[in-house]
Amino acid sequence: MEKIKMITPLVEMDGDEMTRVLWKMIKDELICPYVDLKTEYYDLGLENRNATDDQVTVDSANATKKYGVAVKCATITPNAARVKEYDLKEMWKSPNGTIRAILDGTVFRTPIIVKGIEPCVRSWKKPITIARHAYGDVYKNAELVIPGAGRAELVFTGEDGAQLRETIFDFKGPGVLQGMHNLDRSIESFARSCFNFALDSKQDLWFATKDTISKKYDHTFKDIFQEIFDTEYREKFEQAGITYFYTLIDDAVARVMKSEGGFIWACKNYDGDVMSDMVSSAFGSLAMMTSVLVSPDGKYEYEAAHGTVQRHYYKHLKGEETSTNSVATIFAWTGALRKRGELDGIQELCTFADRLEQAVIATIESGCMTKDLALITSLEQVTVQNSEEFIKAVRSTYERMQ
Ligand code: NAP
Ligand code: MG
Repeated sequence: MEKIKMITPLVEMDGDEMTRVLWKMIKDELICPYVDLKTEYYDLGLENRNATDDQVTVDSANATKKYGVAVKCATITPNAARVKEYDLKEMWKSPNGTIRAILDGTVFRTPIIVKGIEPCVRSWKKPITIARHAYGDVYKNAELVIPGAGRAELVFTGEDGAQLRETIFDFKGPGVLQGMHNLDRSIESFARSCFNFALDSKQDLWFATKDTISKKYDHTFKDIFQEIFDTEYREKFEQAGITYFYTLIDDAVARVMKSEGGFIWACKNYDGDVMSDMVSSAFGSLAMMTSVLVSPDGKYEYEAAHGTVQRHYYKHLKGEETSTNSVATIFAWTGALRKRGELDGIQELCTFADRLEQAVIATIESGCMTKDLALITSLEQVTVQNSEEFIKAVRSTYERMQ
């Protein structure tokens, strides 16, 4: 069979530890035999980030801006232990943070659903995608411990010196105080990324804040979403047969629990932090969660939601067998290839991505899976496979499907 030809290269961001090992296996076994793979390769492995003073991360993000689609392997975010382990010049920043800042993007996380790994919530039949706003609020706050009685005020001093002032509280004794902010520009980008992703994936979009209590702060989020929806997206949503639905955050939580799934839930930064962990664990496993960073001007970076699976890598280095789940990393590749196919009008590439995903799901549903899934599956006949066996099993399922 002739390999599928590509036109524009994918931006390939290699990474660290166990996921770097899986990365190569996935390319060798599942992609390169079928696709004449064109990538612009960036090695985001920690050693190369250190060698290039992290310039490689910036370059890979700029390449994503240029070409439009990237696929990324999990990477180490250095902490003190890693600085020692890798003898780093500096405690380099999180690559995901750097890339997200350059692309000004929103992260969408979606669980991969298979029969035999049932969500804890019985009504959930389809995936729920969480979109988390990744700027500001409590994550960029200023805090004070108040020692005793006194007045706390919010003061804004404009460039012309004019001031806005609001009393927060007249303290009679000790307490705590917090100030936070957000930017119209960032909320607008978030809104556009969410509306575009909803159109792209033909799913309804939900958004929720606490605007009844926070009449200026949260209300601004609500108003910006509504304004952008009305002026730029209402017609497109009607044509696509999808809806934009706004409600209060507590009402949203109650409705989500009773829903069937199959929609995107846009969350403010803190809500997204909390709810993405709730949704991912309720759906079964972090190893079955994909993640895509979408910029407001439609650039995409696909990856797995989990990390580099360090514990398994150390076993691998000792020559021990590992049973690391490669599903989310495979789906990062298929997501990126499908998007590339859509943008370049290469139908075979889209079909290949769809079939490879079907092969992954069929393999698991036939009872072949890695240990993490074997521990939680409701299937009775299960074969626990090692990292390599699973990828090879997916390949034979794919071959049989042809
Ligand atoms: P992790 O790599 O997500 O792994 C945590 C644990 O979850 C593993 O030890 C394993 O449990 C289980 N697990 C996660 N993915 C799995 C998979 N594909 N198959 C099987 N089990 C899986 O998180 P971490 O160990 O806290 O972080 C390791 C490194 O990843 C850190 O340096 C961190 O900076 C980085 N990280 C990167 C990203 C990213 O690039 N997007 C995200 C998160 C973390 P068992 O050990 O019980 O088998
Ligand atoms: Mg969290």
